Amino acid sequence: MHELSIAQNIIEIVRQNVPENELGDVRAVRMKVGTLAGVVAESLRFSFSVLVADSPLKDAYIQIEHIPFVIQCNTCRQSSSNDQGFAVCPTCGGSDTTVLTGTELQVFEIELDDLHTEAL
Ligand SMILES: [Zn+2]
Repeated sequence: MHELSIAQNIIEIVRQNVPENELGDVRAVRMKVGTLAGVVAESLRFSFSVLVADSPLKDAYIQIEHIPFVIQCNTCRQSSSNDQGFAVCPTCGGSDTTVLTGTELQVFEIELDDLHTEAL
């Protein structure tokens, strides 16, 4: 299961950024997940909760910010969004486009119980 290894990576990131003695205070682990990141949010949350169940991180949970897939056309400069990952400009039909967002899979903030936040 793909999400299981991602959840393991997330735990590694948390351990690298939070001192050992504060792991029990970790609450929200905030992530940006792009439409095209290929991650099922429910499955990721579940994998994470299973992995942390018997660890100091047992009260931590994943909070996901969904990032839409957005492309910008290099011909007409219009940006557009779709859920399928089409890289063709809907305005002029051009295929010379740049992906702006939508492939993120990133932890960007870790919230601890005393409300101090580790921004990454
Ligand atoms: Zn265009």
